[in-house]
Amino acid sequence: MTHTPPRAAPGPAHAVAKLAPAPETVIAMGWMHTAKFLTTAPQLHFLPELQVPEIAFVGRSNAGKSTCINTLTQQKRLAFASKTPGRTQSINLFSLGKQGVTDAVLADLPGYGYAAVPKSDKLRWQQVMANYLVTRENLTGIVLMCDPRHGLTELDEILLDVIRPRVVEGLKFLVLLTKADKLNKTDAAKALSIMQLQAGGGSVKLFSALKKQGVDEVAQLLWQWAHPTAG
Ligand code: GDP
Repeated sequence: MTHTPPRAAPGPAHAVAKLAPAPETVIAMGWMHTAKFLTTAPQLHFLPELQVPEIAFVGRSNAGKSTCINTLTQQKRLAFASKTPGRTQSINLFSLGKQGVTDAVLADLPGYGYAAVPKSDKLRWQQVMANYLVTRENLTGIVLMCDPRHGLTELDEILLDVIRPRVVEGLKFLVLLTKADKLNKTDAAKALSIMQLQAGGGSVKLFSALKKQGVDEVAQLLWQWAHPTAG
């Protein structure tokens, strides 16, 4: 009687191969991890003129912007939320690049929408933001953070109006629906499709710093924005 040996179960090598991140992910995450504080500018004219691609992170206060930047760069306290309403807020720049050669920068714009901020300060900030988004020459892409449980606020809508002409001209635009771990599957799918209609030419992704959802994908997308000719 012939004996058929049992099929070999997938060995450890197979398991490792399945778990290993894709090379593009390793490159993008390694690149994001090089982020270093470059400078802070309380007003636009203090920003250095740069030739490298700049990617701006914007969103209302508490949307999860600092957590998102820290998660993408795999650094605990690179970006931090200013929890003091009315405090002078600045644009913070972080440089990115391997071997100390800066090939892109991230710009962390102040969160907007604190109810307690005096109206004059709000208007001043809207102006600074709008000017930055319209005039910054090396601006290559914008990442808008939005808590999907609250949807777009009035200030988000103003920002969308401000950037629309530049998005039409080819500026990259991504909306991140943050804290996605707080939504069930149905609500996440609903939020995604609503935002896809509102994002006017931008892409939309679910993101959770807590569950590490979307992290690799976003890192890869930002890497591509900054290296458009690299395969
Ligand atoms: P910022 O004001 O936009 O910089 O927002 P923060 O990054 O400070 O986040 C605001 C709050 O949301 C904090 O309490 C964070 O811990 C929380 N938060 C941020 N990201 C996530 C996430 O992915 N999941 C959950 N559940 N909470 C988050």
